Amino acid sequence: MSTLAGCRPEVVVIGSGAAGAAAAYHLARLGHEVLVLERATFPRTKPCGGGMAASVQRWFPFDLRPAVDTVIERVRFTWALEDPVLAELPGEAPFWIVRRSRLDAFLIEQARCVGARLACGMVVEGLEPSATGWLLAVREPGGVEVSLETRGVVLADGSGSSLAAPLGLGPRQPRFAATVSVELEGPVQDPAAARFDFGLVRHGFCWAFPRKGGYSIGLGSFVGREGLVDDDAVLAQLLPTLGFAPEAGVRTRGRLRLWDGHHPLHGPGLLVAGDAASLCDPFLAEGLRPALLSGCEAAAALDRWLAGDPEALAAYSTRMRQVWGDSMAWGRRIAQVFYRLPRVGYQLGIKRPTAPRRIAQILSGEMGYGDIAQRVIKRLLLQRS
Ligand SMILES: Cc1cc2nc3c(=O)[nH]c(=O)nc-3n(C[C@H](O)[C@H](O)[C@H](O)COP(=O)(O)OP(=O)(O)OC[C@H]3O[C@@H](n4cnc5c(N)ncnc54)[C@H](O)[C@@H]3O)c2cc1C
Repeated sequence: MSTLAGCRPEVVVIGSGAAGAAAAYHLARLGHEVLVLERATFPRTKPCGGGMAASVQRWFPFDLRPAVDTVIERVRFTWALEDPVLAELPGEAPFWIVRRSRLDAFLIEQARCVGARLACGMVVEGLEPSATGWLLAVREPGGVEVSLETRGVVLADGSGSSLAAPLGLGPRQPRFAATVSVELEGPVQDPAAARFDFGLVRHGFCWAFPRKGGYSIGLGSFVGREGLVDDDAVLAQLLPTLGFAPEAGVRTRGRLRLWDGHHPLHGPGLLVAGDAASLCDPFLAEGLRPALLSGCEAAAALDRWLAGDPEALAAYSTRMRQVWGDSMAWGRRIAQVFYRLPRVGYQLGIKRPTAPRRIAQILSGEMGYGDIAQRVIKRLLLQRS
């Protein structure tokens, strides 16, 4: 027996992660009939450090703090676990750690409270244009295949999206960072300090974010094709410095789709948001803020389009370029130079007294990479010659 048979929502959101939940909330709040199709069942876990600037609060009229686990007050940078720099974060740009299982469930619950419908265990296998909008092929739990017709679609199916590229949305061949995430349960040394090490991971960095009752650890490699090399050896060095056994924790290996150039993020009655749109910061792997931002912007654009504005969807691509892509273009250049010359980058960039404040300003959206990029690249290249 089909759950979705006969259902004809005005808008379908595919995926209920940060991007999909934000889009569903705002669309439903604006009075649209929204169905969210989610492959997983809730509550679901997701490999993610959960670091997020508190500035995202401005995109939501409800308080996000019930989803916040920890407030970060200081950062500790190291090079291969040595040469530490400890810096207090500026109070005006706070940084939160969230658990994704809690944040995503909280956001989708807010969307449901304003009228969105969530259907879990639904795999969208394809979509094609129809006379009135889009026809979706959905596999329901138990394997039942059903077709669903809708006017508008927000594609928010994450880094592994198989739907975006064939529809001409985002890069044709996405670029990925290689990642490992480890959740550790145990005592936390400094519950208000986030740690970043730039010397252990080739072409990337590793981080340790404190949360209640443990740490979220992550490794990411951002440039080059070889991915993560010897990640277990890196963890064996890092974990004892946090008071854990070298082999502790379950390791989840994955890929994170990175921003890689300006691309159309819209089609007729169709928008792509979050990781599926390749928005993740190619330097610092920040993906939650652009996922939430694009979800909110997609909802506003689709609302205008449904009200008869034919330019609204193209305006979404333009707007995402202005508020996110232009900064990421500089972030990608910085990543390409920094991760190829990381020791120099650490000495001349991260160790600068102004660096923690600049990073906090970038992660909060107060500043873009363009504001600092030219100075940083010139400093790195001058040092090399
Ligand atoms: C190890 C690691 C650590 C990270 N740490 C951070 C961090 O500290 N801070 C930060 O800002 N970013 C971090 N990121 C990035 C961040 O996790 C992502 O950018 C963010 O999850 C993007 O949200 P999203 O909604 O676009 O995608 P997702 O959260 O992945 O949501 C996509 C949803 O779509 C569903 N779905 C997929 N395919 C289908 C389908 N065919 N039909 C129906 N549903 C489907 C999935 O089940 C999922 O629920 C990290 C990423 C990794 C890998």
